Amino acid sequence: MNKVDPQFAGEIAEIRNAIGRNGRTDYVTTYTEREFFDGKTTVERVLILRTRGCSWSYHSGCSMCGYWDDTNPEIGKEEIENQVNTFLGEFPKGEVLKIFTSGSFFDPIEIDAGVQFIIIERVLQGYAHLIVESRPEYIGKVVEKLRKYSGKLQVAIGLESTDPSILKNSVNKNYDFEDFKEAAKLLKENGISVRTYLLLKPPFLTENEALRDSIKSARDLAPYSDFISINPMNIQRGTLVERMYKEGSYRPPWLWTVVTVLQSLRDIDVPVVSLVTASGKKRGAHNGHSCDRKFSEGIRSFSETLDYRYLDELKCECQEKWKNFSEVEEKTGVPISEMILND
Ligand code: SF4
Ligand SMILES: [Zn+2]
Repeated sequence: MNKVDPQFAGEIAEIRNAIGRNGRTDYVTTYTEREFFDGKTTVERVLILRTRGCSWSYHSGCSMCGYWDDTNPEIGKEEIENQVNTFLGEFPKGEVLKIFTSGSFFDPIEIDAGVQFIIIERVLQGYAHLIVESRPEYIGKVVEKLRKYSGKLQVAIGLESTDPSILKNSVNKNYDFEDFKEAAKLLKENGISVRTYLLLKPPFLTENEALRDSIKSARDLAPYSDFISINPMNIQRGTLVERMYKEGSYRPPWLWTVVTVLQSLRDIDVPVVSLVTASGKKRGAHNGHSCDRKFSEGIRSFSETLDYRYLDELKCECQEKWKNFSEVEEKTGVPISEMILND
């Protein structure tokens, strides 16, 4: 991994703070996605709530996280409750609802502790399963109260990597694998399933370092998780990663790398999927070749079915170009920008 700028954490905040926020109080958006869940292809509804945003982002924040512009620092707890009521008026029932908050559902500064449970109760009247996201530090306070939702609630944690150096120097996560393990154990002891996100290709890593890190991390964390989702980097507005991308010093991962990571994990006991944001686009994982669409569809079909044939049948002449790119980086130990090699 490349040497990290000591100004790193301050720089993240400075770039992000330049992004304006507005005073809106409605929910951000809702959409559906398909994913392998509970043993089958499932249509899941996603609701993004507008909150004040992640408390960690008020101190510094993660190097790739651009959720800031969906937040409103002044938002009140009634307004958050209203967002959920409005949403449930529009979409009262379904199989799975994922609630994302641009932060942590169980952070009481972000969503009032009482309102958290009002939301869970109301959602589970119409939906069979609810998935919410949280940093590990908020789990201890709520976990016993979650026990009654066993079998219906899943908590997703964005661990990103199990490597302490990558978490500290590349992601700026402000928690580590030990914190994750503690939270995941508590959740499991109380019958709540755990979903874990890994970030494929944090900044300052070469393509091969990123590939190895995601494979190793998935293997390390599998005993503590019921579901793993590999999130290939996508370039979000107002982030350190976006600045690096614009300077030509960061390239999102190749779709070849995504496929290889998924194929390398076929023997582990928990489902591993990858929903690739901006797949095949410059700001998302891409091969930079005419095969981008075929690869994006193959990864999507795999993530809906866990059928490895969708990945195994992906072939393209640009595999050589991807290998050359990775080898040149491996020799120099320095990540290469897209501008140099991906014409
Ligand atoms: S913990 Fe999550 S929401 Fe908070 S800054 Fe990091 S990625 Fe963004
Ligand atoms: Zn290709």
